[in-house]
Order: sequence, then C-alpha cells, then structure tokens
Amino acid sequence: SADLAMYQSKELGRNQLYFFEPEMQARLNERTAIEQDLNEALEQNAGLRVYYQPKVDLHGTVRGYEALVRWQHPKRGFLNPGDFVALAESTGQIIHLGRWVAQEVFRLQADNKRAGMQMVPIAINVSPREFLEQDYLNWLEEQLKLFDIEPQWIELEITESAVQGNFALVRERLYVLHNMGFRLAMDDFGTGYSSLSYLQQLPLDVLKIDQSFVAHMVDQATDRAIITAILAMAKAMNMVVVAEGVETAAQFTALADQGCDLFQGYYWSKPLPWSEHSSGVQP
Ligand code: C2E
Ligand code: MG
Ligand code: MG
Ligand code: MG
Repeated sequence: SADLAMYQSKELGRNQLYFFEPEMQARLNERTAIEQDLNEALEQNAGLRVYYQPKVDLHGTVRGYEALVRWQHPKRGFLNPGDFVALAESTGQIIHLGRWVAQEVFRLQADNKRAGMQMVPIAINVSPREFLEQDYLNWLEEQLKLFDIEPQWIELEITESAVQGNFALVRERLYVLHNMGFRLAMDDFGTGYSSLSYLQQLPLDVLKIDQSFVAHMVDQATDRAIITAILAMAKAMNMVVVAEGVETAAQFTALADQGCDLFQGYYWSKPLPWSEHSSGVQP
C-alpha cells in the first residue's frame, strides 16, 4: 500500500496533495509495518498465541472451547484479533495465519487424545477468504491424517459474510466438510443481512447468537424477541444454540429460561492459554 500511495502522488501531481494528509500516510505506514511484522511472526513462528474460551452447559460443565488468536507483538504489546485479523484478511495473510491457528488446535487435540483426556470439540474461526480458498478442504483433510484425530473434535465457525454472494459454493463446501465429519457453526448470527431461509439449506450443527443481542437482552424487549425467534428457528432445525458474550447471571438465567443450550462469556471465563484452564468452570 505504500507503493500505491507513491504511484498515486506522481499520477495526481501537486494539486492533489490533500490526498496525502500526514494522518493518512501515517495510517498507511502503520498498516505496512504491521503487515511486515505479521509476516515475520508467521515465518519465525514467534509471538502468535492461541487462547481458549470455554462453552458451558446449564450446569456449568465445559462442552467445548473456542480458539482465539492473540499476538504478543515485539514493540506494540499484546494485540487482540481486532488489531490485525481484518488487515490479514485484506492482505491474504489470513490464509497462513488461519492455518497456523488450526494446526495449533489439531496438535492440542492430538495431545489431549494421547493423554486420554475427556475430549470436547474446539472451534476455529474461519474467515471468508480462508473458507473460499481453493485448497482449503484438501488441506484440512491432510491435517486430520497428519495429527490422527477425529473430525468431530474440530468445529469450524464461519460467518454470514462468507455466505453472502457465494451461496452455492459455500453450501457445496459445507456439505463436503459435513460429510468428512467436522462440526459446523454459524458465528455472530443475526448481524448479517442474509435471509433466514438459507440456513435450512446448510448442514450446520451450531448457531452462535451474536453477543450484541445478549448484551442488551435484559433491558431491551426487542433484543429478547430476536433471541426468542433465533432459538425457535434453530430448535426447529435441530441446531445447538450457543450464546456468546454472556457476562452476568441475569443474562445467563434469561437465556437458560429460553432454552439456550450452551453459554460462552466472561461470566465463566475470558479466553486463556490452554494451560490456565482448570477442568471445572464456576461463575
Ligand atoms: P468471535 O469469533 O465472535 O469471538 C468472540 C469474541 O468475543 C472474542 O473476541 C472473545 O474474546 C469475546 N468475548 C468472549 N466473551 C465475552 C464477553 O463476555 N463479553 C465481551 N464483551 N466479549 C467477549 P476476540 O478474541 O477479540 O476476537 C474477536 C474476533 O476476531 C472473533 O470474534 C473472530 O471473529 C476473530 N478471530 C479471533 N481469532 C481468530 C482466528 O484465529 N482466525 C480468524 N479468522 N478470526 C479470528
Ligand atoms: Mg467465533
Ligand atoms: Mg462470535
Ligand atoms: Mg462476535
């Protein structure tokens, strides 16, 4: 993007200097720097981490985890995905980053299996560009063999934005993954613009209610109504429903009363390194 800026400055000439406000140039430089640092982190396998957040049932028993990437940046400190995942998606680095995260999860599940642990699924976030990448399905199949684990212990979370504009291809790919045995989840449900009828044409196991609805459900009747509708629809389609962003006992109780199956949020645990999770989770 730095090259693009220089190219534009020659093309547009002196009269177009407003295009190069220092602020904008600074933002471009910042993006380029992060892009380069991420390449280094990926090549040297240094600084990237995977944190895990439990999903619990009504009794607080852990039924699964979600893998969430973090980056201990050499100069910028501890970064959350909000600081670099969208950038990685736009540069294409997300393919490499996503595979790195997925391999961490495959390796962890292989270790858990070898250690004779009680297995639960671990979910991976798959961005649209990764999901639609030509080689993705073959790559996943190879990883299953390489790490020798059953696909039922890997859950793939996609978002409505992956489906948007690519329905036929996404459906075809989801069916292949479903037939391979992976668990499939729709993440952040309710925030996209897709029609509801598309859902029943996809082989999804899990629907995750976006945390924005959960955040306001206790005081906003409309958010409560949306959650009621999502639950009714998901139940009719035999999907497991997970509420994300559950922070309070009041939210948990309200969701449980409505028949939500699984709960994820700070009320039980924030995302943590695997080694910091104890077996029982209490609010
Ligand atoms: P997401 O998949 O919807 O993940 C849930 C986000 O909500 C996580 O943010 C999690 O830390 C946060 N969260 C969990 N419980 C609570 C709560 O009780 N209250 C609040 N306010 N937030 C809570 P995080 O880890 O910052 O990740 C943000 C997003 O980045 C994720 O949203 C996901 O879309 C993306 N992401 C994370 N890891 C990866 C990855 O490995 N690959 C890809 N492609 N995307 C990732
Ligand atoms: Mg997710
Ligand atoms: Mg989500
Ligand atoms: Mg979300």
